[in-house]
Amino acid sequence: MKAAFHTGAKEITVRDVEIPKPGPGEVLVKISACAICGSDTWWPKDPGAGEGIHGHESVGLVAENGPGASRFKKGERVVCYAIQGCGACPACKAGYVTACPTKRFIENGFAEYAVYREDMLFPAPKEFDDVTATLLSDAIGVPLRALRRLPPSKGDTVVVWGMGPLGLLQSIFLKSRGVKTLIGVDRVDERLAVAREFGVGVTINPSKENAVEAIARATGGKLADKAYNYVRVPAVTHDAFNGVKLGGSICTLTGLDGQYQLGEWVERTLVWSFYFLPSEYKENVAIAKRHHAELKRTVSGVFPLARINEAFASRFDAQDKSIKIVVTP
Ligand SMILES: [Zn+2]
Ligand SMILES: [Zn+2]
Repeated sequence: MKAAFHTGAKEITVRDVEIPKPGPGEVLVKISACAICGSDTWWPKDPGAGEGIHGHESVGLVAENGPGASRFKKGERVVCYAIQGCGACPACKAGYVTACPTKRFIENGFAEYAVYREDMLFPAPKEFDDVTATLLSDAIGVPLRALRRLPPSKGDTVVVWGMGPLGLLQSIFLKSRGVKTLIGVDRVDERLAVAREFGVGVTINPSKENAVEAIARATGGKLADKAYNYVRVPAVTHDAFNGVKLGGSICTLTGLDGQYQLGEWVERTLVWSFYFLPSEYKENVAIAKRHHAELKRTVSGVFPLARINEAFASRFDAQDKSIKIVVTP
């Protein structure tokens, strides 16, 4: 089979390798599409020792069941989950695979075939083509989990920091929840233009103006009720805090790296949200179906495996022109 290996900084090489064999409880999936994630930040760096295939937002057809695997029939179309928990620890037993201390990130989607444990596969809805169905993993799962962690109220003013694919999808879902004023922040003007097309009413480019002051102006000095932060930069987290009113809430999707000067007087609520849980998939699909047309529009490029380098350059070197990019092995 053909598989794409990270062989250098901004260099991916497609090689012929053996098709992997599914072990007990595992399934061999013939990958039809795998999206590039904003977290695929390995691309511009030199590969580490033993680094191999990447790609964790995959959709494909069940090609073979390993011994004892029986959830899916051969030929069934599946969406692949990226985190493999141990299945036995308290976190896994509570459904929080994402918090399993020995969890593994399964990244093997930029290849013609990949092996997954059968409990990491979900049925793909027939209404979605392969390319759009890749969004049903991270791209839809992450913003919808953030809404469960920090539910917006009708009439809220909300700031979304980062108008990449996830911030954009976050905005789409916030709008449908009745958020009154949506403010999008990004340093790339073209992304802000796309955000406005998707209904983000106020857009701010922090490389051109002070974002917190701009939020204050847009809200008549009241500041926002809530913020969702997709930018892993301490200064942005700081601004995300300061752009929310006293008593407001901030949902961080990137954790909290770096040092912060936030005194006790801030009286705001910080909520962490990470990835999504397998138990949420079914409801995510139901919500996604209501946004099918918008979701399709968030995919701005589709590349065959042979052109994966172009796909990555388009995603990370041409952010002014791209949204979500999908590779089709
Ligand atoms: Zn991802
Ligand atoms: Zn576990």
